[in-house]
Amino acid sequence: MQESQSPKAIVGRFAPSPTGELHFGSLIAAVASYLQAKTAGGHWLIRIEDIDPPREVPGSAERILEDLRAFGLQSDLPVVYQSQRTDAYRSAVAQLIEQGLAFNCGCSRADLPATGIYPGTCRNGLAAGKTARSIRLKTTGEPIRFIDLIQGPQQENLAETVGDFVIWRADGLPAYQLATAVDDAFQQVSEVTRGADLLNSTARQIHVLNSLGLPAPEYAHHPVVCGKDGRKLSKRQQSDPVSALPRDQALKR
Ligand code: GLU
Repeated sequence: MQESQSPKAIVGRFAPSPTGELHFGSLIAAVASYLQAKTAGGHWLIRIEDIDPPREVPGSAERILEDLRAFGLQSDLPVVYQSQRTDAYRSAVAQLIEQGLAFNCGCSRADLPATGIYPGTCRNGLAAGKTARSIRLKTTGEPIRFIDLIQGPQQENLAETVGDFVIWRADGLPAYQLATAVDDAFQQVSEVTRGADLLNSTARQIHVLNSLGLPAPEYAHHPVVCGKDGRKLSKRQQSDPVSALPRDQALKR
């Protein structure tokens, strides 16, 4: 069959976790991903990453969407909520286990060496006396390489930096690295534009996609906004919410 010659559709996304108010730093991430997609004639989507109830702040998903709307930032397709996608994450994990690419692990954080790099303890079966707690994805010694559209060429050998990593958590929740990768593929995202604080998650997400036989998007990690103390603005530090700023001034700093 002849390969399609039409250019791949451009799809960008903004994927906030509802763990607090939208602050200036996340507004920049939203605007950056929006402009990246829209200037290329693409679509822009919003995904609410509400898979971690212990960290969520009730009502913040609605307030984030409201704040985005006030800046004219609306998803071109219905907003995806990760809390409604558990079946998709379960079937991705089932596929990985079935293919021998993921395994049950009985180790707790206390069992890991000080480096935090998983030593492969349960890779070939649960270690004696352990019961299954989490599920890990096997890493290989092959470096993951990608060209970040802002940060340039990147490579990471996951076996050396993290080891086999958790894709299903001991508390029964899907891990961020799994859910985000599965949903970027599900939503046919072609470009992930987000803050550089997430650059070190990218190789793991590409590895999840490669393992599932799904295409990886392109990535662009922009510098993050820091406060006067030099630290990244964050919802958890309760950085000034954009809703507290006059609309016509929030983007004029
Ligand atoms: N949900 C993540 C956060 O709010 C961002 C995920 C992503 O953009 O990949 O930090």
